[in-house]
Amino acid sequence: MLEYQIAPDALQHKTILITGAGDGIGRVAALSYAAHGATVILLGKTVKKLEAVYDEIIALGGPQPAIVPLDLMGASEQHYQDMAETIAEQFGALDGLLHNAGLLGVLGPIEHTDLKSFQDVMQVNVTAQLMMTKALLPILRQAKHASVLFTSSGVGRQGRAYWGGYAISKFATEGLMQVLAHECEGSSVRVNSINPGPTRTAMRASAYPAENPATLLTAEQIMPTYLYLMSDQSIAENGNAFSAQ
Ligand code: NAP
Repeated sequence: MLEYQIAPDALQHKTILITGAGDGIGRVAALSYAAHGATVILLGKTVKKLEAVYDEIIALGGPQPAIVPLDLMGASEQHYQDMAETIAEQFGALDGLLHNAGLLGVLGPIEHTDLKSFQDVMQVNVTAQLMMTKALLPILRQAKHASVLFTSSGVGRQGRAYWGGYAISKFATEGLMQVLAHECEGSSVRVNSINPGPTRTAMRASAYPAENPATLLTAEQIMPTYLYLMSDQSIAENGNAFSAQ
């Protein structure tokens, strides 16, 4: 899919929410969606980073984005309901939801699992996505075609030693994707997952500190699959696990 080409206006008139939009892959996805005409809702933990992405989009002449500062670690069900109401008031419908924010947690053998660290990873990588999706489904159904995209990982499809809670959370993410996709079959909402593959970001560097980042693809290079799955070109895809590389 790295060579996939999409029309420059493929996402025009679409409103897309991206979690973890301030950094790494989420930042580049937000810029890329906006560059293809989407109004993006930038959700993340660090407001300064979201504001910088907002400014970049405006400087590029993209549609005015919205910012939702939210820490997925502490967010309650009420936060997601309030956010859904605000989006409904402001935009009416939501055409896309990219669950991208993620926490690596502590890597190590299962035998050494720290309960708090495991629960934190599950909270950010799984529970928050479940509760956010639940709150947003009514406005996703208001769109003519809506795409929900979960971010997986290689270790969410084949277990690997020492990837602990992170790998378990990504298997759970694939499970959430499959269950929801089955429930959405035949509807206007489609649900898929994407494994970015090894990508030059801060998370990758902390998982592989000895690796030379120059050997990895950049987030910009893996965007074709992200664009395809948010565009109407992919309306027939549901319940599928994609790899961006
Ligand atoms: P990253 O550079 O670490 O960026 C992660 C993003 O998630 C940041 O914007 C961060 O916000 C946000 N985030 C983390 N905890 C949050 C919280 N509690 N509330 C709200 N936002 C939070 O990671 P990345 O490499 O771009 O990864 C993006 C996704 O791809 C993740 O789901 C990751 O598991 C997956 N992935 C990445 C790779 C890779 O090689 N990079 C490979 C496979 C899968 P702050 O900056 O404000 O903390």
